[in-house]
Amino acid sequence: MVERVNLNHAAGNPVDKRVLKGMLPYFQEFYGNPSSVHIAGRHATKAVANARMQIVNLVGADTKDRIVFTSGATEANNLALIGFAYRNRRKGNHIITSEVEHLSILNPLKFLVKQGFEVTQIPVDEHGVIKLEALKEAITDKTVLFSVQHANNEVGTIHPIQEIADIAGDAKIPLHVDAVASAGQVPVDISDLGASLMTLSSNDLYGPRGVGALIIRRGTSIQPILLGGGQEMGLRSGSENVSGIVGMGIAAEIAGKELEANIRHLTKLRDRLIKEVTTKMEYTYLNGHPSHRLPNNANIRFSFVEGEAITLYLSFEGFLVATSSACTSRTLEPSHVLLSMGVDEAEAHGALQLTLGRDNTETHIDHFIKALPPIIKRLREMSPLYPPS
Ligand code: PMP
Repeated sequence: MVERVNLNHAAGNPVDKRVLKGMLPYFQEFYGNPSSVHIAGRHATKAVANARMQIVNLVGADTKDRIVFTSGATEANNLALIGFAYRNRRKGNHIITSEVEHLSILNPLKFLVKQGFEVTQIPVDEHGVIKLEALKEAITDKTVLFSVQHANNEVGTIHPIQEIADIAGDAKIPLHVDAVASAGQVPVDISDLGASLMTLSSNDLYGPRGVGALIIRRGTSIQPILLGGGQEMGLRSGSENVSGIVGMGIAAEIAGKELEANIRHLTKLRDRLIKEVTTKMEYTYLNGHPSHRLPNNANIRFSFVEGEAITLYLSFEGFLVATSSACTSRTLEPSHVLLSMGVDEAEAHGALQLTLGRDNTETHIDHFIKALPPIIKRLREMSPLYPPS
């Protein structure tokens, strides 16, 4: 069997062994429901409270902030946007976001537009960075919320989030930060930013899938979107996924402790990968910001070929890669992020999203750098567009 090399961590991280070990007792031994008053329930309540503290510590939140556990980042983003918009409707109906957000932001906003809200999507520059001047100009007296990602999951660009937070702060507009792609990859501090809301995902921290969290800072009002038994401070009904929440907590603690070491490890691999791939082959370009980028992300486009074909050929050789975000990779539409950056449609089709993980090694990069050029060469030989006239 061909050895598998995973360069598609954005689609899913393996659960850290230490996380799994910490979760296992919560399936059988400590199966209590936090809503029960008996000893098993109290044990579960304590475990969930402990996980909240681990999240608080990862992102510099305050113990008075509410950490609402959800079924994932998609639900947390829906709760942040719809919950905030509904609760604060009397103050205004205008929300500002960017063109390069994840679909779990863009689609709830589309829903809100149908409910009478107005949404402005700020464009990005050629590196995928949100245009700050356009952001300032978009503010009106009806603006009630900014919702901006810290880093882009697809092309890896890290936005100037402190400057964005300052613009929001100066205009006294609450800020929601989707920190799914950045938390655990680079330092994230909600207090420094002065953000009101922040979304996190467990799996992006090497915790289990199906768990996420919305951090709601003191003084920020949200309306629940899931109604039922009133769990999670009345903001997210449904019996808590205790084992998953415990796992997310441990994953957050490990991500915080090992942040610097992971940044060093991943940055080294990423820089070598980008350098070798873009210099070894002609008509090959890096997408996203050359330096302000996530340590785990290399997004590269190859002119005259289709990303899907490269993905397929690479998979025959054991490499797991993707053309774009896992959430959109089943469509053949070019990435909305690349189009927004001004990459033309044909070029956008030739993009590969390579996302590294803690388990990747220099040997993986050696193998990849060796395997890729013959594949690109072969595909270009079949391409009617190559060589360019
Ligand atoms: N926001 C960002 C930036 C993402 O990359 C993702 C996908 N990992 C999500 C939100 C949604 O996460 P999930 O699919 O786990 O709900």
